[in-house]
Amino acid sequence: MIYFDYNATAPVMREAREAWLAATENIRGNASSPHRVGGAASTAITDAREKLAHFLGCHAADIIWTSGATEANNTVMHHFARALDAKTEVWISAIEHPCVMESAQHYFQKRLKIIPVTHGGVIDMDWLTMELTDTRPGLVAVMAANNETGVIQPWREALAICQQYEVPFFTDAVQWLGKMPAKGLGECDFVTGAAHKFGGPRGIGFLKVPPKSHLTPLLLGGKQEKGRRAGTENVATILSLLAALEIREKQLAQGEHKTRAIWREKFEIILLEHLRGSTVAGAGSPRLWNTVSALMPEGAQLRWLSKLDNAGFAVSTGSACTTGKEEPSHVLSAMGFKAADAHRVLRFSGGWETTEADWDALAKALAKVYGEVHHAKA
Ligand code: PLP
Repeated sequence: MIYFDYNATAPVMREAREAWLAATENIRGNASSPHRVGGAASTAITDAREKLAHFLGCHAADIIWTSGATEANNTVMHHFARALDAKTEVWISAIEHPCVMESAQHYFQKRLKIIPVTHGGVIDMDWLTMELTDTRPGLVAVMAANNETGVIQPWREALAICQQYEVPFFTDAVQWLGKMPAKGLGECDFVTGAAHKFGGPRGIGFLKVPPKSHLTPLLLGGKQEKGRRAGTENVATILSLLAALEIREKQLAQGEHKTRAIWREKFEIILLEHLRGSTVAGAGSPRLWNTVSALMPEGAQLRWLSKLDNAGFAVSTGSACTTGKEEPSHVLSAMGFKAADAHRVLRFSGGWETTEADWDALAKALAKVYGEVHHAKA
């Protein structure tokens, strides 16, 4: 199978596997235990926290390990539900991942305001600027890059304007990390990430909070993570997360993603030429170098998916979390695509192991499948 579903989860890197194995074999204690065996676990976690803080550009003390981004994102919403008074609004972008969208809807209901996006899938900065002159929400949430379209959000600009009005700013950086350099993210008040999107293991992530903040924990129990997240830390997955991020940061510093962006561009040109009537969502906007969200010219989404699967390509219909849902993608709907059009979308997301030949093979396979779909219809 040629794997084009990195945005759902990326293959675990060799270095990350090795780090996990070494930690599992050698670090046997509970980081909260008072003896030296526990001390070794605690030191390893502290060291990893410092390294992650270095990449993000924040203080190690402000990083909390979590079971992944879903937990981290829910923690942010839960915290603000407790911290804000009953009238204060929360604003989130229309294209947030369901774990932000649904928890925000759950906690804030009528107090939740949606930041619109343009047809290109970028948050409407004019809207944000205008609204902030009038109202001060308790939190603004804008993801760093979208998981379905790969469209990069102007999170630095949104952060700057929120800082100007002293409004806390939160970015879900799950799709950004490992694909773009982490530098600067630490300036956001709240940042979340998940290892499995950048070559680390599943089930480990983090939440970065503002310095000296009193976070209301989502999980209660032990006093791990300075009382901000109960539960024994998973040392092996934390070290594995770091091993993967270190590799990706090194490769990104060397600019390898720039070449990969060229392969993706070439793929899109072939796609649009051979599949007349297809469209790339967010085509004119800055996008992650690995993602193509394409509306197929005709035929049902699941038919394309199974034909590609049979041809040896693992692709998706959008977010893995929404596969099988009847409703169209909320991201494409927010961008102004009609339901029928949104149902024609396929997401191709490559990664650091994807070669130019893989993109070329995918383009060829799509042209072949299109021939079959079109022929069956005629
Ligand atoms: N946020 C974004 C943007 C995502 O793409 C995902 C996963 O698809 C998540 C959050 C949730 O991450 P996890 O499933 O690792 O908890």
